[in-house]
Amino acid sequence: MQFTVAIDGPAAAGKGTISKAVAAHFGFAHLDTGLLYRAVGARVLTGDDAIAAARGLTTADLERPSLRTGEVAQEASKVAVIPEVRHALLEFQREFAEREGGAVLDGRDIGTVICPDAQVKVFVTASAEVRADRRYKELVAQDPEIKLAEVLADVIARDKRDSERATAPLVAAKDALLIDTSDLSIPEAVAQVVAAIDEARGA
Ligand code: C5P
Repeated sequence: MQFTVAIDGPAAAGKGTISKAVAAHFGFAHLDTGLLYRAVGARVLTGDDAIAAARGLTTADLERPSLRTGEVAQEASKVAVIPEVRHALLEFQREFAEREGGAVLDGRDIGTVICPDAQVKVFVTASAEVRADRRYKELVAQDPEIKLAEVLADVIARDKRDSERATAPLVAAKDALLIDTSDLSIPEAVAQVVAAIDEARGA
């Protein structure tokens, strides 16, 4: 059985948490595609060429502990602008999406470019302030010096870069279910996605 769920949206909208919960609910595999761009960004920060890094990405690159930092996130959104980098990562994502047993992929361009035929597409968003507050709470555990205003500025800069790039910009697919998590709990958002998948599967 092949079944693809595409979950897109801006940074810290709740996509990752929702995707993991939905994948666990249905026993589907989950791929956080942001991790691929973060792994390329992390290699660029250590002096590698972005395109070569994307073409030669290994599982060890995806397991680096530093991938969740704000610095790597910014670098990820810079390498994500490069068409050759996106192209190098495309095949792996499509193969993952087509695996037997169902797959949930979360990112920015899953429903529009990677899996335009996904059976269920979701676009998760929230206000920049709510998203920055969430990301701040995650990051402050690693870096007590970090400031909320700094995180908000980073979120806004990354949104702008992701939305304005020429190749695969951050945009909701026309047929995506829109979920705004500004005032919605994660279990409520998960329930909406589960219902959409049940409906698509005819359950
Ligand atoms: O989702 P996450 O915040 O980890 O993604 C890091 C960066 O990777 C994003 O800001 C975006 O520039 C890029 N990205 C992308 N396409 C995806 C997933 C992530 O361009 N499918």
